[in-house]
Amino acid sequence: MQNWEDSLEPGNRARVEAWLRYGNDLGLGPYYRDRAVLQQDVAASEGLSAKSVDQAAQTVAAAVGQAGAVSSVRVSPTSVPPVAGAPLSSSSVISSAAGPSLFEASDRIEGDTFQLIRETIGDCTRCKLHKGRTNIVFGVGSLKAQLVFVGEGPGRDEDIKGEPFVGRAGKLLTQMIEAMGLRREDVYICNVVKCRPPENRLPEKDEITTCSPFLFRQIDVIRPKVICCLGSCASQTLLQTTQGISRFRGEWFDFRGSKLIATYHPAYLLRNPNAKGEVWKDLQKVMAVLGLQPKRK
Ligand code: SF4
Repeated sequence: MQNWEDSLEPGNRARVEAWLRYGNDLGLGPYYRDRAVLQQDVAASEGLSAKSVDQAAQTVAAAVGQAGAVSSVRVSPTSVPPVAGAPLSSSSVISSAAGPSLFEASDRIEGDTFQLIRETIGDCTRCKLHKGRTNIVFGVGSLKAQLVFVGEGPGRDEDIKGEPFVGRAGKLLTQMIEAMGLRREDVYICNVVKCRPPENRLPEKDEITTCSPFLFRQIDVIRPKVICCLGSCASQTLLQTTQGISRFRGEWFDFRGSKLIATYHPAYLLRNPNAKGEVWKDLQKVMAVLGLQPKRK
């Protein structure tokens, strides 16, 4: 029997494939695959009948099905990114996708320690970033931290010093931490990749895939109360989404027992000081969860 895809005209087929990719980017693919299970979960957690959830799903499906109607597909910010972490907000209809995320798929290692992680990394040549590095930038701070900041990768200053966030952006992060009533040594600071990308470019997908399991192990060992992702790269890696950070910045996600929030990267704030107010609002949310008072001047 002929597949339905084979019966499509090449032009229509390309259009359908583009829509499927778009739906997949929105996290809708796994949702529809496992819709029966998710409907029960969502209905149970939100007090909705399965019928009303189904109607909402059909509305989204109808919108996705309209070729050329990208702007008509409206997905609420709380429903956008989470594959790895479920949003804590109660307003999402499209919940987290079933199946393990990159994070969940990497097993917790019983009895893991930072020493073991560092020994495993060794003089790492697993990805091409090793070629240009001076130092592996492992991370810095308290192993008992309740708050972990995750950035994207080391810059020039960090590469030279072997410590994350020590350049201009790092100084701003330190000021932000102190404004929260904490010291730099009270938190843990690390990055998605541990070697400097050339010309300070964003880490590439293969580099992130290769290096991020070490970050996941670090988070696993610390088990912080709150993870604060700084910028798109960190938040997209941990939440396993391709959505832009502005779609979910300031929202809470449940991330394997930790609460996760994404905010703008300090380097972005250096270029866009007007966004500092938004970041401060995000940090105040973190402070409320951790029971912190702002630093007195
Ligand atoms: Fe190894 Fe990570 Fe450095 Fe790549 S970025 S070489 S995986 S430590």
